[in-house]
Amino acid sequence: MRFSLLCIVIIKIAALILGLIGVSMGWALVLFFVPDLWVLYHLFMPGASGLVRTFTRFQTDRPEVWLTIDDGPDEHDTPRILDLLDQHGARATFFLVGERAARHPALVAEIARRGHEIGHHTHTHPAGTFWCSTPAQVKRQLDAATGPLTPPGGVPPRCFRPPVGIKNIWLQCALVARGLICVSWNVRSGDSFARDPQKVAEHVLRLAKPGSILLLHEGAPLHDAVRVTAIAQVLAGLDARGLRCVIPADAQLR
Ligand SMILES: [Zn+2]
Repeated sequence: MRFSLLCIVIIKIAALILGLIGVSMGWALVLFFVPDLWVLYHLFMPGASGLVRTFTRFQTDRPEVWLTIDDGPDEHDTPRILDLLDQHGARATFFLVGERAARHPALVAEIARRGHEIGHHTHTHPAGTFWCSTPAQVKRQLDAATGPLTPPGGVPPRCFRPPVGIKNIWLQCALVARGLICVSWNVRSGDSFARDPQKVAEHVLRLAKPGSILLLHEGAPLHDAVRVTAIAQVLAGLDARGLRCVIPADAQLR
């Protein structure tokens, strides 16, 4: 990432020099702004790895996928999702929001007790402003959530997911300093906007294959008809296809 930023600085300086010596103002402007497009792409595309090393799948030669559930914990949804996962013998990673976890420490402990992983999804889920947050704000989002997201007797999260997948230019250094890895997805369920859980499940099942990272959500912004029901139908469909839900080891994330 440092190499990328160094290249951007060099290109911009070259553009300024071209502009100043008057070789071609048009080319100078193009050269000056093209790197910004590259930066915007890698900030706003959830799967892009140019600024922050990001995993969108995991290595496996077995029929298994990684189910990830964002935005909890939720007192209505989380207990029902945990029961569903037990019924299907499935394991999942819950990307929890720190301040919500602080309000429901018993749910955080229960997620861990049932053998699931707790992921880091920032402290306040600043979806609209995370991309332009200062280094101090990024640090606060990471550090304030660490306590609430660490279950009693457990370990702090190893995986981080930016809110709505949008990254920040300061994020890579902050993650490395805290031993966190950035995990995105390659199967987006669309449950945030859907009203028909069956369509959500059909979409996920059409795209899921070994090594896929599936993105689903829990909590109030979801439509009532979709909440939990979509996850239930996805789990049933994965069972029917012989795809197990597992939590990949570090060695599978390369
Ligand atoms: Zn989220």
